[in-house]
Amino acid sequence: MTTQLYIDGIFVEPASGRSFPAVDPATESAFASVAAGNATDADRAVNAARHAFDDGRWSQLPVAERTAVLRQIAAGIRANLDEIAALETRDNGKPLPEAIWDIEDAAFCFDYYADLADAAEARGDTAVDVGDDRFDSRIRREPVGVVAAITPWNFPLLMAVWKVAPALAAGCTVVLKPSELCSLSCVELAKIIDAVGVPAGVFNLVTGSGPEAGAPLTEHALVDKVAFTGSVPTGRKVMQAAAAGIRTVSLELGGKSPFIVFADCDIDKAVEWILFGIFWNKGEVCSATSRVLVERRLYPRLLERLKSEAEKIVIGPGDQAGVKLGPIVSKNQYEKVMGFLDRAQHCGAQRLTGGGRPDGMETGYYIAPTIYADVPLDAEIWCEEVFGPVVCINPFDTEDEAISLANNGPFGLAGAVMSDDLERCDRVASRLRAGIIWVNCSQPTFIQAPWGGYKSSGIGRELGEAGFEAYRELKQITRFDHHETWGWYLGTENAQ
Ligand code: NAP
Repeated sequence: MTTQLYIDGIFVEPASGRSFPAVDPATESAFASVAAGNATDADRAVNAARHAFDDGRWSQLPVAERTAVLRQIAAGIRANLDEIAALETRDNGKPLPEAIWDIEDAAFCFDYYADLADAAEARGDTAVDVGDDRFDSRIRREPVGVVAAITPWNFPLLMAVWKVAPALAAGCTVVLKPSELCSLSCVELAKIIDAVGVPAGVFNLVTGSGPEAGAPLTEHALVDKVAFTGSVPTGRKVMQAAAAGIRTVSLELGGKSPFIVFADCDIDKAVEWILFGIFWNKGEVCSATSRVLVERRLYPRLLERLKSEAEKIVIGPGDQAGVKLGPIVSKNQYEKVMGFLDRAQHCGAQRLTGGGRPDGMETGYYIAPTIYADVPLDAEIWCEEVFGPVVCINPFDTEDEAISLANNGPFGLAGAVMSDDLERCDRVASRLRAGIIWVNCSQPTFIQAPWGGYKSSGIGRELGEAGFEAYRELKQITRFDHHETWGWYLGTENAQ
């Protein structure tokens, strides 16, 4: 299979004439070729999106017609769910049941934003009380325009849809640039969008590398907004490029999220959620709770249980029944995680389990579930995002100490707290400096609830109503009562 770009309603070859391999991380073999888009393709796609936005073929369409199309996209994803999930697993390595969750969520996301767009249309403009009866002031919400969406490889389709669905629902036009590591499910999305008859130019797909296909989008003068999910270093470049043209940006970046576990909780539940918090999706999760803080009197027992349960996790190809941990997405990412593990050997932490390739698995980018305890607070493995199946655990004595340790660091994407004392949970939730807090769980994510980070974890919010408003501009329309006279120049009696 060799993919094409999707520009202005047509599947086309990339200007470069080149492609790059899609590699199955379980076999280390290429199984498809992906079109290598470049600046020429990005420019064509942006121009198509600009033209489609400016002539109103999408933004001026009656909202009910627009949302009917979004619901057809949702239905198209559901109709192809098994194939897309299998492709996602092959491209990314994630266990198939997790890929199925992703694709189901992606379909729901289109339905959800169709509903929000319908509700917004029914509400109409919002009146503003400006304190002067001569004026009628209203807020009208309009699409921001042309959106460049740049997305990562860990939830390839879902991260794209978190942007594409609300942007299209709001009336924007889109150019999507997925990660070169996992582009195939986004190509399937383009096919579905094409099949349901979204007007040409409204959605465009440019696959290719970050520097060649992504950077030109962030620099393009005809782009109104750059919606980015990825790492902090790339996010910084995206923001710099957008600054040159004073373009709006939203950034969903990395994390090193804390999980505070108090001793009064049920130990089975703690084990379950700590494991899920770091090992689902192979730990390649921006919100992974990779720093766990455990109240000291539970600490030894919990470490013992975590070690024995982590060692039971079934590792293997994502399409194999029962597998709970697939291979790391790529050779490069595998080497990156292994580098963290190598350097951690000398940091003074105690390795409870894992630490490298699982025994007997010679092929595939596999890394065993890895747990470090008693980790020095300045160790790289405690401070930096590993983005792999690696968790660090430390004890604490008081609630204040746990909160202070949890808040220490540059990130603020997510946090979790576990205790049977719900008042304490609520208190801790208030004091954690992060955009998402889980109580007595870790990771469940809902399309209806806002998603995004404090501090270096990002700017703006996706999902929920906030994720819809992120693609709408506020316009103030203020009307002066034409029966009244202003009178500043043409008479003074009625002057304000
Ligand atoms: P990344 O290397 O920053 O790449 C993200 C996207 O940016 C990819 O499409 C990449 O293309 C592209 N890119 C690279 N250089 C670029 C440039 N100069 N200009 C424009 N685009 C460029 O991140 P990743 O490794 O794919 O993803 C992992 C990171 O994403 C982690 O830090 C994770 O925490 C974060 N993340 C955050 C969230 C969230 O919601 N906050 C969700 C998921 C992931 P190529 O891949 O083709 O190079």
